[in-house]
Amino acid sequence: MFIIFLGPPAVGKGTQASRLVAHLSAHHLSTGDMLRQVRREPSELGERLAELMDAGKLVSDEVVLDVVKSRMDVIGLDANYLFDGFPRTIAQAEALDAILSASDLAVNHVIELVVPDQVLVDRVKKRAALESRADDTPETVAKRVDIYREQTEPLVAFYGSRGIVSKVDGVGTVDEVFDRLISVLETGS
Ligand code: AMP
Repeated sequence: MFIIFLGPPAVGKGTQASRLVAHLSAHHLSTGDMLRQVRREPSELGERLAELMDAGKLVSDEVVLDVVKSRMDVIGLDANYLFDGFPRTIAQAEALDAILSASDLAVNHVIELVVPDQVLVDRVKKRAALESRADDTPETVAKRVDIYREQTEPLVAFYGSRGIVSKVDGVGTVDEVFDRLISVLETGS
């Protein structure tokens, strides 16, 4: 099963993704985590990634697809996947389609976690005070939200035409939101 988990920065996706993968016995493919691992290695690519990521900009489709493909090669396609932070562009979504359709597979479900913009802004302020991620300053998160609206939100229509998108309300306690996610995944509503 191939599930895509979409949502703007600070929507609470990371916390929910960790719980979902445990519940679903799925592999958690977080491109953000994978890219952070690459940037930690001293290399030219690492330096390039650091610059883009700290500025809240997207890494090139080519680099992202390289890390995703190599991870999928290791895991194999006979597994449950939760894609978190991927795809982020239509080109990435098309590339994922190509990988899956070559084995007669397809994305099964897309979940979009939604919260009102004001809630996002408040969460970002709290998070910036608590965490030390270089791309978590209010300014950079605002940039990441803009990029999400421009480049990633179109994926909702891209997959929506297949009838596989569910919107889930991300406002509430971690448990409340998790229960909504499970209910959507298990019953489709
Ligand atoms: P995340 O942890 O998902 O918020 O990702 C952190 C940063 O990694 C993003 O702001 C981008 O710079 C980069 N990144 C993660 N996933 C992708 C992706 N699918 N496409 C392009 N850039 C990505």
